[in-house]
Amino acid sequence: MSGGPITWMEAALRKNDLRIKEVKGWKDRGRPGSFAPRGAMFHHTASSSAGGNAPGLGVCVEGRPGINGPLCNVLVARDATAYLVAAGRANHAGKGGPWQGIPQDSGNAYLIGVEAENDGVGEPWSSELLQACDVVFATLLLGLRRKSDWLLGHKEWAPDRKIDPARIDMTKYRDRVSAEMRTLAGGFSPPSGEEYHAVERGDTLWSIGQRYRVSVDELKRLNGLETDIIRGGDRLKIRP
Ligand SMILES: [Zn+2]
Repeated sequence: MSGGPITWMEAALRKNDLRIKEVKGWKDRGRPGSFAPRGAMFHHTASSSAGGNAPGLGVCVEGRPGINGPLCNVLVARDATAYLVAAGRANHAGKGGPWQGIPQDSGNAYLIGVEAENDGVGEPWSSELLQACDVVFATLLLGLRRKSDWLLGHKEWAPDRKIDPARIDMTKYRDRVSAEMRTLAGGFSPPSGEEYHAVERGDTLWSIGQRYRVSVDELKRLNGLETDIIRGGDRLKIRP
């Protein structure tokens, strides 16, 4: 899909019955630099459970000394409300990778960052909070037209320095999100305004056609292609 701000997540999350709060300015908030999301990353905030519902919110928006905000795109609070923090690129992944074709240390350009409020040192994950995370990740991945293998934990990106999300087995969690995606898929309308696909290495007209449910012939017609050859970096029209 085309890159750029993920303003479509608001309507998609509302449609999927998630309680959301829009943080003022979220649609225009983001770091400079490219943002072409292919997947999502799961974090915990490490805030104290004594701090209340969304103690990490200020830091997620503003950043902290040495690292500019926004530090995530979505923050899921202890009461399972999802705060929309930024539609643009966020400073969340840091050094790590490479992973599934995402170059080393480039996670911020390709991954949506989702923070969940948890202290990371033993606080139980409430079922309400986790269920809200399921819906957030499932909705985002459906919007990106990706499978659950495009969800990863920060600890998988940077295993030498990160433990988040603590005590969550990401392999099992991806299965949960997969199940949630099947539940939601029937009622999901693809976000509007996504008419182009940025070609990545390994893409073929067939694989792109499968993802967007467009035939190879239609893709060729839309893009005036004489052959089946496409290259990384090409921009393909996927809708008339
Ligand atoms: Zn993290």
